[in-house]
Amino acid sequence: MSHSLVTMSYIVAAILFIFSLSGLSNQETARRGNYYGMLGMAIAIIATALSASVSSYAILIIALLIGGAIGAKAALKVEMTQMPELVAIMHSLVGMAAVLVGYANFMDSSSDLIGVEKNIHEIEIYIGVLIGAVTFSGSVIAFGKLSEKISGKPLLLPGRHWFNLSLLIATLVLGYLFLQQTETGGNALIPLAIMTAIALIFGVHMVMAIGGADMPVVISMLNSYSGWAAAATGFMLSNDLLIVTGALVGSSGAILSYIMCRAMNRNFISVIAGGFGTASGGIAAAIEGDVQPIDADETAQLLLEAKNIMIIPGYGMAVAQAQHTVYEITKLLRDKGKKVGFGIHPVAGRMPGHMNVLLAEAKVPYDIVYEMDEINEDWAHVDVSIVIGANDIVNPSALDDPNSPIAGMPVLECWKGETTIVLKRSMASGYAGVGNPLFVLENTRMLFGDANATMQAVLKALKD
Ligand code: NDP
Repeated sequence: MSHSLVTMSYIVAAILFIFSLSGLSNQETARRGNYYGMLGMAIAIIATALSASVSSYAILIIALLIGGAIGAKAALKVEMTQMPELVAIMHSLVGMAAVLVGYANFMDSSSDLIGVEKNIHEIEIYIGVLIGAVTFSGSVIAFGKLSEKISGKPLLLPGRHWFNLSLLIATLVLGYLFLQQTETGGNALIPLAIMTAIALIFGVHMVMAIGGADMPVVISMLNSYSGWAAAATGFMLSNDLLIVTGALVGSSGAILSYIMCRAMNRNFISVIAGGFGTASGGIAAAIEGDVQPIDADETAQLLLEAKNIMIIPGYGMAVAQAQHTVYEITKLLRDKGKKVGFGIHPVAGRMPGHMNVLLAEAKVPYDIVYEMDEINEDWAHVDVSIVIGANDIVNPSALDDPNSPIAGMPVLECWKGETTIVLKRSMASGYAGVGNPLFVLENTRMLFGDANATMQAVLKALKD
């Protein structure tokens, strides 16, 4: 394929990626956004495969087959609940690719760059490897935390800020040495390798220091880093499309991190520095009081008596895969003339937009799905709210207890409604590991059991 045709294809692919992102920003157009993205990626892969930069088709085809098979198998096998972990591990692969491309470029003796161009290329290699290594190790730890293989508790090393600062200074010094060594023909591999080790340690430390409740910011931040790692790879390979795509992912991830921080009332720097909210030194208030259990029949009765019902889904709904049953109940109640809405907290579940995806899968109409800001004023008019496998996002201690690890995070204030019914299997805490006083409030009833089983029982009782 001629160079100009490849460039043309890249421009078309880049435009499709922009359409894709703009489609993904809205539930109604998200599906279309995905199609644009898929089409753009197909054009990008075909154009790159047919471009003059490919020297061996055999290697390319083998790599495509292996990569495609692994990707297809992972996508087919992964449960909806494992999606956040899959995304994290995919980010780590982008980071690893940047590191490997960086080293390959560094060792490539065929490069004929000289002078300033050579220096710029070396800076690209150094920064590419740096971002790639932080993204790789950070994402692996995020994978561990999301799959609960690693504890969600923040690891707060004494003097951790000094530790981070010394890693940063060492990275700058090594960068200078790396450039100096390449200039003088010395052994530049040593500073590059030491910096890689430091960047890997930094990635691990950064994510280990993040408390459970702050993980959403880290997920979106690593998403952003993976974009910058891809852009750095694009610079090293002189591939314009990779630069554009990486920059799109990098900047949209950065915007998402900002949105997540705002949703959680967190300061970005504090989150990244780790351990935010644990610095007060106080002890979080213990939860005292008795829970009032309720059964499916009583729940159905309360729903039949209510006029205005709000459903609050959380991670447990994803685990139980209860979304279809929940929508069956919603349809039935709406047919009986009741107002039923869904209240979505921005960090509900384990990835940005997690609940919206589940509700879209169950075909819940978008116009009854509300964001937190839209409903937090209206709780006084809600007769019954049903909390389905949510915990941290409905925890009143975020507002009342300054010593709580989630203090300051806005939550769905469902307890201000008439009655709250909480569906969960036990009294266990949520991802942030904090007790929840909502469960013992006078107007709360606990419906214990797997959310899908209990919702099925409620549906049956409503039908009967
Ligand atoms: P939580 O993790 O706070 O609570 C989920 C609750 O669901 C648990 O208390 C659990 O209780 C219950 N549950 C689990 N399985 C079932 C089941 N089969 N049936 C019924 N209940 C079940 O989830 P939330 O959505 O309320 O909050 C999200 C948390 O995750 C926040 O702390 C957020 O910061 C964090 N997070 C969010 C990310 C994001 O991007 N959205 C990313 C990473 C972390 P029990 O075991 O008793 O059933």
